[in-house]
Amino acid sequence: MTELWADWALLPTGWARDVRVTLAAGRIASVMAGSAPSGTRVGVLLPAPANAHSHAFQRAMAGLTEGRGPNPRDSFWTWRQLMFRFLDQLNPDQIQAIAAFVQMEMLEAGYACNVEFHYLHHDPGGVPYADLAETSGRIAAAASQTGIGLTLLPVLYQFGGLDQRPLAPGQIRFGNDLGRFTALHAAAKAAVSTVGPDSCTGVAPHSLRAVQPKDLLALRGMADGGPFHMHLAEQVAEVEEVQAQTGQRPVEWVLSHLAPGPDCCFIHCTQMLPTETEALARSGAVAGLCPITESSLGDGIFDGLRWFDAGGVMAIGSDSNIRIALAEELRTLDYSQRLRDHSRAALATSDLSTGRRLFQAACAGGAQAAGRHSGQIAPGLWADLMALEADHVDLAGRQGDRLLDAWIFAGDDRMVTDVWSAGRHMVQGGRHVARAQIVAAYRRAVAPLISAL
Ligand code: ZN
Repeated sequence: MTELWADWALLPTGWARDVRVTLAAGRIASVMAGSAPSGTRVGVLLPAPANAHSHAFQRAMAGLTEGRGPNPRDSFWTWRQLMFRFLDQLNPDQIQAIAAFVQMEMLEAGYACNVEFHYLHHDPGGVPYADLAETSGRIAAAASQTGIGLTLLPVLYQFGGLDQRPLAPGQIRFGNDLGRFTALHAAAKAAVSTVGPDSCTGVAPHSLRAVQPKDLLALRGMADGGPFHMHLAEQVAEVEEVQAQTGQRPVEWVLSHLAPGPDCCFIHCTQMLPTETEALARSGAVAGLCPITESSLGDGIFDGLRWFDAGGVMAIGSDSNIRIALAEELRTLDYSQRLRDHSRAALATSDLSTGRRLFQAACAGGAQAAGRHSGQIAPGLWADLMALEADHVDLAGRQGDRLLDAWIFAGDDRMVTDVWSAGRHMVQGGRHVARAQIVAAYRRAVAPLISAL
């Protein structure tokens, strides 16, 4: 039994002082406000959200795509070309080392779970490894080392575009038909089952452009109520391609064919018409937003105001992992609305400050997207918790929602002192407990990759 005592804690009923929280078998056992000090003192205790969208290997490409390419106007598509060159070399040992590094950074930023949208399945020649789920197993092994909760989403990727053209050379490591994917998924599920009882497996068609419609429907069945994720309406070019091929815009197609519901998480949802935003929000599906990556790739601005007004659920992911920074993701989301609308505190309500509303939404939506029984400090849930340094200068004199606002808008993730994932106390004093080994392995893994680009 672990016993924590917090100056402040954000409970389902709101802020409370002098809160005693006990943990047992990875779950929150009890929560008592107004308690006398006992156990380990922490500052501001918060639920730790899941990171709802990541491609771990892309972390090693961070900062490599900021020069002007041969195209007169650099874009998402030139970024993708560099990613494909990178993939010509990446081996399983490197995949594992990079994944461990990203997961460590996620934990240090305050995330308790990594929802990994995993499409890198085969060797650089496109030939399956002897173990079909070799690379899935490497992600699972990284999670066992870092102690992060894992929701692994093996990805089905079939075609190079909606006209069902074959995969380009840079995409051959991703490809499977439905039969082989079914076998891969079963093997990946077995690998994830060794990580811990809080980890699980879902399913993810890559996008409308990469999977044929009949197999999209088959995958929905394969998810069996577990998380079903897909990239959706990220880029203008993608919207145009779907419209040209199907006569429907991507969100229109999803609404009329996939019966989206709370088990679904659609990543990005940037290019939506107002009616699409409202209809998809009302479906109960999660919008998996990745504000830093969407800024980096110039995707556009998600219509957060309309989404929230329609009762939409949202989660935060780090996608390209160019930067792992939870507070910055939330800040970037609100700032994008302000820049578009010439407004301030865009997503605040009369009851909740901007920081409070965004953070609570990310906790609830992250748990939903991860298929994880977490997201609040309440008995029975997985003990996914994070603590901010109560004595930090940026929190001086702050109470209640202003604690979150100061962290998100004035501070950064260095304010995070401790993180528990299903009770595993992996971040202590602001650092992952195995940081030195993980960083050393990451350096060894990426040096030859970078020098070869
Ligand atoms: Zn993505």
